[in-house]
Amino acid sequence: LDHEQFRKQAHLVVDFLADYYSNIEKYPVCSQVKPGFLTETMPDSPPTQPQPIETILQEVQKNIIPGITHWQSPNFFGYFPSSLSTASFLGEMLLTGFDVVGFNWLASPAATELEIVVMEWLLKLLQLPKSFSFSSDGGGVMHGTTCESFVCTLVAAREKKLSQIENNKGETLGKLVVYCSDQTHCSLQKASQIVGISPNNVRTIPTTKSMNFQLCPDALLMAIGADVRAGLVPLYLCLTVGTTQTTSADPIGILCEVAKQFNIWCHVDAAYAGNACILPEFRHFLDGIEGANSFSFNAHKWLLTSLGCCCLWVKDRTDLTKSLSTDPEYLKNKATDSKQVVDYKDWQITLSRRFLSMKLWMVMKSYGVSGLREFIRRHVKMAKHFEALLSIDKRFEVVVPRNFATVCFRVVLLSESSDEEDGNRLTKRLLESLNGTGKVYMTHAVVENIYVIRVAIGATLTEEKHVDMLWDMVQEHANTLLACSEL
Ligand code: PLP
Repeated sequence: LDHEQFRKQAHLVVDFLADYYSNIEKYPVCSQVKPGFLTETMPDSPPTQPQPIETILQEVQKNIIPGITHWQSPNFFGYFPSSLSTASFLGEMLLTGFDVVGFNWLASPAATELEIVVMEWLLKLLQLPKSFSFSSDGGGVMHGTTCESFVCTLVAAREKKLSQIENNKGETLGKLVVYCSDQTHCSLQKASQIVGISPNNVRTIPTTKSMNFQLCPDALLMAIGADVRAGLVPLYLCLTVGTTQTTSADPIGILCEVAKQFNIWCHVDAAYAGNACILPEFRHFLDGIEGANSFSFNAHKWLLTSLGCCCLWVKDRTDLTKSLSTDPEYLKNKATDSKQVVDYKDWQITLSRRFLSMKLWMVMKSYGVSGLREFIRRHVKMAKHFEALLSIDKRFEVVVPRNFATVCFRVVLLSESSDEEDGNRLTKRLLESLNGTGKVYMTHAVVENIYVIRVAIGATLTEEKHVDMLWDMVQEHANTLLACSEL
């Protein structure tokens, strides 16, 4: 790590990326390479001799970039956004530059304490209840992804439940039940499997379009009641604010009440929409959060922060530490013994951890609260605009009410002889036709057998002109498809 070489080479990489961003609209948004494009063309052994950075960057340009789907393109409207910013990039440079392994406080006190500071700042910004704060029994931690937060809170809930049972803990383990809706992200299934919950004991409660795909408290009560009568043990309820398919939002307060009656751990996953809840006009989506045991959102989705940065709060930090702590001899130290410090290794899956707070701190410092709110408001305004354009054209239907900055729409066929399946086929073809141009990229969802195109507006570089271009393209491609539609 020669510092002069570092200076020179890092400048070259920054120049390379600045050129990439300035040319990003020239690339097809979704990569068009075929499987094996690299594995079949790259040498099967590493180079024997060192290669200069200039040569390596040329190879990135020529061979790697064609295989990249450009999530930072202003015309990327797929999945949920990944909103990078200069501030986050610089934060990544610093945290990678220091490359500390902050498993406990002593291993790098700044890594731990900056994380506490940032999590407390965010707690205020989201107006989370004091009970989630370090100033009471709670606290926040940064994980890489929501899936990790699911695993850790499931383990905490499992251990808490088992500790309340005197006999037959092993037998109880097989009886634990997790509840969610059919709109919950699939990573909950994966996390449940990891912590030993039988797939048969994950209750996926159906939702309906007529109820805006929200989890219904009565349906939850019925499912829990049936399980209790069958001798099973309700463990964990996952609610979602901003579901992946349609951004629907479960009513937290009333569902937490149900969970409380049965002593069920309640986690609120707001991976995407939690970001919007820093705006006063969206905060009502978190009403009732005081009834939850834990809450998480992904700053890497929509808060100008690079992957991964999932922020998790728990109401009782000992729930996490009791179930995830290790105490090997080589990590023993006076600070830990004093119990005056946080050792984040006991709040997560892995022992080693990155200095993630550095990038979010950089983002919060660089934008300020007003800049962060403005960023999200800008996308919401563009989504409203797109929704308004759709709603004045009878050939399209906005399938579910837009809650945040994701619009779900489909093609509706006006002819009386056409049915739902015809509409689905045409909507799918419209999406394929639009994505096939390489000029834009969107993804789909299927809800109640309706195929919908999701337009998730949230890339950092997206401006109103990109949304207008998308609208022009949607109309143009729909005209062509409808004109020659044999379905
Ligand atoms: N929850 C919701 C609502 C999501 O939309 C997603 C991903 O899009 C996840 C959870 C999974 O997040 P992660 O990839 O961070 O585990």
